[in-house]
Amino acid sequence: MSTFDSGRFEPLKLFLPADRSDWPDCSPEEWGNWGWQLRNRITALEDLERRIDLTLEERAGVRLSGGKLAMAITPQFWGIIEKSDPDCPIRRQVIPNIAETRSEPNEMIDPCGEDSHSPVAGLVHRYPDRVLFLVTDRCAAYCRYCTRSRLVSNASGYDFHPETENILAYLQAHAEVRDVLLSGGDPLLLSDAKLDYLLGRLRAIPHIEFLRIGSRIPIFLPQRITPGLIAVLKKHAPVWMSIHTNHPRELTTEVKEGLDRLADAGVPLGNQSVLLRGVNDDPTVMKALVHKLLMCRVRPYYLYMCDLIQGASHLRASLQSGIRIIESLRGFTSGYAVPQLVIDAPGGGGKVPINPDYVIFQDEDKVLFRNYEGKVFEYPEAERAAMADPEIRRLMELVTLDRR
Ligand SMILES: *Cc1c(COP(=O)(O)O)cnc(C)c1O
Ligand code: SF4
Repeated sequence: MSTFDSGRFEPLKLFLPADRSDWPDCSPEEWGNWGWQLRNRITALEDLERRIDLTLEERAGVRLSGGKLAMAITPQFWGIIEKSDPDCPIRRQVIPNIAETRSEPNEMIDPCGEDSHSPVAGLVHRYPDRVLFLVTDRCAAYCRYCTRSRLVSNASGYDFHPETENILAYLQAHAEVRDVLLSGGDPLLLSDAKLDYLLGRLRAIPHIEFLRIGSRIPIFLPQRITPGLIAVLKKHAPVWMSIHTNHPRELTTEVKEGLDRLADAGVPLGNQSVLLRGVNDDPTVMKALVHKLLMCRVRPYYLYMCDLIQGASHLRASLQSGIRIIESLRGFTSGYAVPQLVIDAPGGGGKVPINPDYVIFQDEDKVLFRNYEGKVFEYPEAERAAMADPEIRRLMELVTLDRR
């Protein structure tokens, strides 16, 4: 068992409902209503203090970090925090810590250089054929390591980005864009009507083939996955979705039911995790997470190294731990369960895959490599192998003679 696995939540692989005991008067209908969940979010120090014994670092963190990144925690997500454990992996993701006010020399406000690849505010066009469209600046809850904390501010209403018309005009004019990733903030905080309108406008642009939504709502607020939302997603199908989970306990009964509704509606699901110290930088934890994801019909997609965002150094895990996790999965479990480890290159180079080294030696004749068990194998280079065959060499010589 992992050191991160504690209390009533053992073992890691069970689907359990979130604990509702902090809202004793709430009816099942209220709990299941996303408006109720949003209205009852924990956003203030007094709210927190009433419900949990904060550490000194957390109390100072809540007081001092609010100006940079708002605090908000849905009752649903609150219900998976192990209140008696100051190192709870869920708690570390959403309760501010004084360490957030520290900034290291290599940290940045815009760690992936998104602003420098932004032709219109709210749009990042870094890759040849696809764009990132930041549709809103709000989230259901705020992750303390958020790479877009410079944008995600809880500042404006649940409305479109103010530049939306200019963004749509840019997309219309750029026929090379075939893939639009809606993110933010969280696009699923938009109303069904607004989402329907936006997806409709994008679908009307003929060269846009692939639409996807990046959202943490299925985890923070699975109650948002209503029949109305499902109808919108089906209307504009195919719409793919990348969810964001980091720890197996985040996959509760409510989350699984929400993911089932999405999968039943034909929404292909992937997951992105961020490797976080004390949260999921442990092969046992990640293995439980990817297995639970497959049970929910979600394909693990990326495992990100934490971006060099200001104030997140206490949550950053080592690259070695990331590589060790991938090595502990590949070969040992279903290939579908293995995400791609990536670093979003600091300053703006895009996502770069980082893999365990399986190649031991390579020259023009052959490659020597090891398998997941450490056994060594050899594979001959194709052209050389062909040329080594006397019959093929004779034929090649004839062709060469012919051309003279
Ligand atoms: C992550 C990202 C994408 C999508 O990348 P994929 O590897 O296709 O998932 C597109 N644009 C930007 C700016 C991104 O950060
Ligand atoms: S859900 Fe995503 S955008 Fe929102 S705070 Fe978390 S990491 Fe940032």
